[in-house]
Amino acid sequence: MTIKAVVFDMDGVLIDAKDWHYEALNKALGYFGLSISRYDHLVTFDGLPTRKKLEMLSIETGLPTALHPFINDLKQQFTTDLVHSRCKPVFQHEYALSRLKAEGYHLAVASNSIRSTVELMMQKSRLDVYLDLMLSNEDVSRAKPDPEIYETANRHFKIQPHECLVVEDNEKGIAAARAAGTHVLVVDSVFDVTHDRIKGFMEESSNTGPLR
Ligand SMILES: [Mg+2]
Repeated sequence: MTIKAVVFDMDGVLIDAKDWHYEALNKALGYFGLSISRYDHLVTFDGLPTRKKLEMLSIETGLPTALHPFINDLKQQFTTDLVHSRCKPVFQHEYALSRLKAEGYHLAVASNSIRSTVELMMQKSRLDVYLDLMLSNEDVSRAKPDPEIYETANRHFKIQPHECLVVEDNEKGIAAARAAGTHVLVVDSVFDVTHDRIKGFMEESSNTGPLR
């Protein structure tokens, strides 16, 4: 395969933020006597934007939808506080992105998070300097699992879907990438995101023809 761009999902791929989102959402919900379980956080809600999680909570618990904007703001503020204190550069990610960049690939991040969170996390992890494009849920009308965010990246780089490699960790993101027609490297955690792994995937796939 001829890959021209590598597009990374953010949470669970470049940033280990699952616990931060969990803590921040529960801290905000706590003001209203609500909380979500770790199971729901990891399974039911994984990869969904906060507003979608709140819609689901309202159906389940009767939480008034009029409170959503306020809870959303609180949650984002708590997330920002946690990112400032805990988000740090990870050597293997800086190494992977800097080498891929030097090798001539276009690089992007495409996340269901809001723009300010994407920008802040990429700055704090010092990955922003390698990225040609940062896409958030504010850059699309439909979040993942819709393919729109990956189609937007392909359009931006003026490439065909089969020239794009997406790195994803969860079901909704994988579905979005597959629906967009890109190659998908599925990782279990941020620790799987290495230069070797990414280049290995590209080489393996080119020997056996387009796999996915
Ligand atoms: Mg993810």
